Amino acid sequence: MKENVKTNMLTDTLVIDNITIPYSKYKTISISCSGGADSSLLLYILMKYKQTGTIHVYTYANNLKGRLAAKSSANVIEKCIQLTGYYDIAHHVLYVDKHDSKVMFSNLSLQKEITKSAIVYSAITANPPKDIADSFCGEHKNSEQQDRDPAIQRPTFISDTFCTPFTNINKKKIKELYDYLGVTKSLFPITRSCEGFKSKTENFTKTCNTCWWCLERKWAFETF
Ligand SMILES: [Zn+2]
Repeated sequence: MKENVKTNMLTDTLVIDNITIPYSKYKTISISCSGGADSSLLLYILMKYKQTGTIHVYTYANNLKGRLAAKSSANVIEKCIQLTGYYDIAHHVLYVDKHDSKVMFSNLSLQKEITKSAIVYSAITANPPKDIADSFCGEHKNSEQQDRDPAIQRPTFISDTFCTPFTNINKKKIKELYDYLGVTKSLFPITRSCEGFKSKTENFTKTCNTCWWCLERKWAFETF
């Protein structure tokens, strides 16, 4: 009879400002990072406490959005290396025509298989309270409302593998974490949350300051 070996035993948990993050200091892990404020902070945290093991970073660069995520995530990785000294990073950039949370989540199992990661992270947050979110009348409404409903409590760890530590907190708490970790002035300015199209961003050289994600960022950080 085969022994029931638990191959994915976790030995570490990070608790940062009351947010609990299942973790492994030594094993290979992977994270989806768009270069936005949320995923960049989670990447920073994972790098800060890592001892050994590759961190695979997956970025989806949307062709319709000027493929900006490729550049912003590379800038974020460089900044995180400067801040943490950890550089065992493999950056995977996938160029796609469309990107939303459905595309990302459907690829997480594949990501785990390819990278042999002990834990696969994504940094999805909860929406702001409904009245605030409803006041964001940007050109593009948030397409992820269902996955980010602040009225629903979601699990942060599924099958000892898929971890979304920020799923029950909103961007104001993300701002608190930036302050708590002392990276509001260093890391945050490198990140980019805008999802505005070419015509609204002077050919992707500026933020549009009107899309849902710009308004959410302004709400939490008081700056675009
Ligand atoms: Zn925008």
